[in-house]
Amino acid sequence: MNTNKDYISLKEKTARAIYSVTPFTLLDYPNNTACILWFAGCNMRCVYCYNPDIVLGKGKIDFNEVIHFLQKRKNLLDGVVFSGGECTLHKNLEFYLTEIKHMGFAVKIDTNGSSPKVIEKLVHKKLIDYIALDFKSTNYKFEKITQSRLFNCFEETLRILNNAATPFEIRTTIHSDLLLEKDLQNMINYLERSSTKAHTLFSNL
Ligand code: SF4
Repeated sequence: MNTNKDYISLKEKTARAIYSVTPFTLLDYPNNTACILWFAGCNMRCVYCYNPDIVLGKGKIDFNEVIHFLQKRKNLLDGVVFSGGECTLHKNLEFYLTEIKHMGFAVKIDTNGSSPKVIEKLVHKKLIDYIALDFKSTNYKFEKITQSRLFNCFEETLRILNNAATPFEIRTTIHSDLLLEKDLQNMINYLERSSTKAHTLFSNL
């Protein structure tokens, strides 16, 4: 029997957390066709951020609308990318992942690495199939670039992924005014010391 409490709980879980949906991409989930869910809000303020509307904006799309959209994409898409903003900040993330995986989609998460406990729990529950972890910089320039003090969280997320079975990649954004050649070398050295298993990607701004 559904109680009023169940109804309120479901309503909370389906509340608007998603800013927009990209219905199709061949680029954002390696070897998979996918759509992208852009989650509103972020706990960093990277100076080169190309998604300020999403970072500063509020969610506009009810999760039920996403489920309705995905029902029509079964057997057409392989996976769903959770991006943003920072999707790990959303308290109902586990519920969203569980529902979407039950529909048969693979799930990739894009994260800035600021929520190690969330990642650890989701990886342990096998709710993520692939992770892209942003490596903004070593500690030396992390605060300057992200305007946050979350480097320790990034380090902890990297440690968790290095010890987990979930495949992942590490990627960075190179802004020539912010990351110099010696900074990139320091990042490479850092990853070599971390014995990371990830693929590492660099992109230029
Ligand atoms: S972590 Fe990503 S979404 Fe958040 S401010 Fe930085 S670039 Fe923008």
